Amino acid sequence: MNGQTIDLEKIKNSSDGTVRGMVSAGINEVMVNNPYFAAGGGLMLLGTALALGRQGVVKSSGFIYRQLLVDLEIPSKDKSYLWFLEWMSQYKHRSSRHLSVETNYLQHDNGAVTTKFSLVPGPGKHFIKYRGAYMMVNRERSGRLLDMTSGAPFETVTLTTLYRDRHLFSDMLAEAKKLALKAREGKTVIYTSWGPEWRPFGQPRKKRVIGSVILDKGVSQTIVNDVKDFLSSGEWYHTRGIPYRRGYLLYGPPGSGKTSFIQALAGELDYNICILNLSEANLTDDRLNHLMNHIPERSILLLEDIDAAFNKRAQSDEKGYTSGVTFSGLLNALDGVASAEECITFMTTNHPEKLDPALLRPGRVDFKVLIDNATDHQVKEMFLRFYGDEPELCNEFMAKFKKLQLTHVSTAQLQGLFVYNKRDPHQAISMIETLRNPNSVF
Ligand code: ADP
Repeated sequence: MNGQTIDLEKIKNSSDGTVRGMVSAGINEVMVNNPYFAAGGGLMLLGTALALGRQGVVKSSGFIYRQLLVDLEIPSKDKSYLWFLEWMSQYKHRSSRHLSVETNYLQHDNGAVTTKFSLVPGPGKHFIKYRGAYMMVNRERSGRLLDMTSGAPFETVTLTTLYRDRHLFSDMLAEAKKLALKAREGKTVIYTSWGPEWRPFGQPRKKRVIGSVILDKGVSQTIVNDVKDFLSSGEWYHTRGIPYRRGYLLYGPPGSGKTSFIQALAGELDYNICILNLSEANLTDDRLNHLMNHIPERSILLLEDIDAAFNKRAQSDEKGYTSGVTFSGLLNALDGVASAEECITFMTTNHPEKLDPALLRPGRVDFKVLIDNATDHQVKEMFLRFYGDEPELCNEFMAKFKKLQLTHVSTAQLQGLFVYNKRDPHQAISMIETLRNPNSVF
């Protein structure tokens, strides 16, 4: 019999003859005397030892990691998240093999489009050297979790560095914040609603100079003075327990500069603007209330074409829709803004007659201003603003304007005529009749 088979004879001889003795002798023969099983057992022991050793290394490296390294997690919901990615995209001492592109698209008033690409670190691991310290940046995207407010995949950036360098995290975040705010200096950020939160819309816009919006004599100054007086009266409101808010209604025909004026006013005050369109289909009373109570700091709330919300309400009722903002929902939201900070609301409408008187009560609308079609004063100012110091041509233009009895001309129409003839005031004078038709196409 060769060594690979079990020697039954040997088992029989070495046992005491009982069944139990034979089984034990059999096991002995198989386990010890059989070279294959002996080798297998040795391998098993080696494998176990290696597995234990590996576990030990993993555990001790985890221990060392916890003792020596420190992590900082920035979730995508946090403000610092975008600041950090933007900062890192401009940071020189980094090694990134995965980049992702962020495109900022902006359409200007004149229809031109500018796009800006930022190559930000994409999902994966990156290394940076910051003030002599090495840091690992891990951007992770959760495949399954969605940020319910924006619908975007939930992401985190985790920074890891040596424990002794942990103070650099706050320096780095402060630098990222400074960079982000510097990019907004001299600019107005326009926020629009995105789900239940406010999101910047496009790139921050260059501030509009208040003098570039020409309203009738003294109107612009009156509004600016009122807003500034309100902003400096916080203490007065607080001591009297009055909600610190003020509502303004600018009404008048389209193209008279209502929106442009509010943008310029925001620039003058160094405020941003949150624009809300009340006729938006999926805007509910709850969402409106939430949005109005979470306005970013130093922002003017602008409710445009406020009458449209009520037209829609009437149509919706007929069609049996239940979504959309209700009139009482709007009033509640206006009354309920419970912020310790100031709240300035501007509403615009081309149809003040359609507004419910309940909306115009003090506390909701405190200051109403008619921004009408161009007056003689505005026509003159607009002409001089476009063509500089040309008083004689201006007089000629004014004389013709009056002779033709042009009464319902908007400032937007005047701008259209002057832009079309931007280097030729004579041509503008000869084309003055086009102002008769508000929809003139040059
Ligand atoms: P509204 O909000 O009253 O409909 P906009 O502010 O949207 O009017 O104006 C439309 C365009 O006309 C803008 O490009 C703006 O620059 C120009 N415009 C309108 N009114 C004025 C004004 N009073 N002064 C300067 N520009 C004006």
